[in-house]
Amino acid sequence: MSDLFSVAQAKQFIGTPESDFLLDLVASVMQTQPTEPVWKWAERHVWLDEKMSAKPGQYNSSFTPWTREWQELPLRPEVREGVFMKSSRTGVSEAALNILRWMPDNWPGNALYSINSDKKAREVGERRILPSVQKIAGAQMTDDENDATLSRISLKNMDIMISGSGSDGPFMEIWYRLIILDELEKHIVSQGTTTYDRAKSRQTDVTDGLLLALSKPEDAGGVIDLKYINGTQKKFLVPCPRCDQRIEFLTKFLVANHCKEDSGWNLQRVVAETYYQCQLCQQPIHEHEKRAMVNAGVWVPTPEAQRRRPPNGNYVPPEPGVESYQISDLYSLFERVNWGNLMKMWLQSNVINPTEEAKKYFRMNHEGMPWENETYSITKETVQALQAGRVEEQMIKAADGTESRVRVQLGESFRLAYRHGQFSSPLPFRPAMLFVTIDKQWDHLKYMVCAWNSDAENFLVDLGRLSDEDQLNDLRTRPYYVAGRSQPEYIFSGLLDSGHRRDEVYRACIKHQTTACAIHPAGWQLHPCRGEGKHEEYRGRLSRLMTDYIDGQEIAVRMFFDHGLKNEIYIGQMQKRKAPRLWLPLDYPAELENELTAEIYDKSANKWVHEKIKRGPNDWGDCLKYQYGGLQEFREELKSLPLPD
Ligand SMILES: [Zn+2]
Repeated sequence: MSDLFSVAQAKQFIGTPESDFLLDLVASVMQTQPTEPVWKWAERHVWLDEKMSAKPGQYNSSFTPWTREWQELPLRPEVREGVFMKSSRTGVSEAALNILRWMPDNWPGNALYSINSDKKAREVGERRILPSVQKIAGAQMTDDENDATLSRISLKNMDIMISGSGSDGPFMEIWYRLIILDELEKHIVSQGTTTYDRAKSRQTDVTDGLLLALSKPEDAGGVIDLKYINGTQKKFLVPCPRCDQRIEFLTKFLVANHCKEDSGWNLQRVVAETYYQCQLCQQPIHEHEKRAMVNAGVWVPTPEAQRRRPPNGNYVPPEPGVESYQISDLYSLFERVNWGNLMKMWLQSNVINPTEEAKKYFRMNHEGMPWENETYSITKETVQALQAGRVEEQMIKAADGTESRVRVQLGESFRLAYRHGQFSSPLPFRPAMLFVTIDKQWDHLKYMVCAWNSDAENFLVDLGRLSDEDQLNDLRTRPYYVAGRSQPEYIFSGLLDSGHRRDEVYRACIKHQTTACAIHPAGWQLHPCRGEGKHEEYRGRLSRLMTDYIDGQEIAVRMFFDHGLKNEIYIGQMQKRKAPRLWLPLDYPAELENELTAEIYDKSANKWVHEKIKRGPNDWGDCLKYQYGGLQEFREELKSLPLPD
């Protein structure tokens, strides 16, 4: 073991009777406690050659001023962990290496630099650590040439270990004053423990040990995200040159609308003319003002009420001694990621040709923020959470930011109007629209009746099975009684899936549309519908009308963008419980839960998949999907319904 570690441990005894002796010992080995921050030292001593930087020259912290506080952490003994969740071009990694370069002459002690792969470790060691240490701390290098290998640089007063995250050795041998975990999100997890945990265990007995972890994030809840959440969650706030208030740069305040021409986005203009609109004073800020702004920036901890939470939604208080930082490319002074280029890349990935992959890349690499998964499989708990009248515990925020836990009731409970075709309970209100959707299978039909109110809230009030089209007459004349009213309501209109046995469906629809009865004197508005993949006629909508023919007659078919509608119901209405809400009755059958959980989202293929053999039928899932298909058409009319008696 290096004697430096005895010194580090000796420092624990300061203030005890032995301390005089120990202080002498400390003084004989260490220089006086440094007071100059690493970044100031680096501006005099660190030269970045063409192997280290795209812009060779003397290190200059004014290009990345947000890394200064990070480089001051070794001088703050109360800080044990520093976490940086960052975008691609922010100089945070270089800043961490500066600490390593500064150590031999100012803060000696063993150090470990660990990056995801051995290959990367060799690269960083060869290009960025060894040459600068040789130059700066050459006097400390031992004469033995074997002491300067790429995995271990032995100096007279400290060892620097450089390793890939897969090797356990460096985490077992010795104690470290400084550990740097670079690209943490990509580190290999061995036997269930992260390098972060192993690094911490290497420092438990080092009084002023410092652990620095930095990485681009990946999915929300990944290791860098969780470590960031655990700390102070600092944001870099910069003064607006117009209103002088401090703001965080965010993509949504980049402005390029003026670069959209009749033929579409003019990306050349986007690159040249994008500007930032201050979120507080709404005045424009231009790229050339950025450097002065970021050089006047300060790190501010996220206030308690706005703290980021892990995917389980729990509030995590900041752990003492853990500073965490997050920064995006919007702050970067690199030409390649200036505001114009970032806006161009955002438009390409989120507007012009959006794909999940492209959006994710922009979010992680340029915004330096974790990707919130948009993919779900619906669980039974998700379905149960849709029951009206449910009581839940929620965190309520007061105006001063304090939170308290309260029990709230969501909606008023109600029951199915019919069970197995038998009247059961009156509707709780007079609906603006009673709408039926029917999924046709080879030997039966399944139906779902929803009561919509004028706010487009949706209440499932009836569902069941019919053996054939003839039984549709039962639904056509089925009375739905309303609490407190003498007149019943009837199903106004509906959609019948024509994906199977198309001709029979078309004929049944035409028959109902053209047959008058006392309840529907102008015929019953039952229409065929079908789901399909992407079609250029949708233009961002979810439905379109198609004309088809049967027995020499024209028939209008409602076509729906299947993927979009499924996102709408499974993610929007069910998972996120988006308003206006979908409400389920108290007494829905267990079969409904099975069917609504039968579809799963295949993340890699970016589509909803239904394996009928494995997961059972999803007919009522399709019925619900067509309810929201119908809504596309009657949403506006709901506002003026129900008609007066
Ligand atoms: Zn402003």
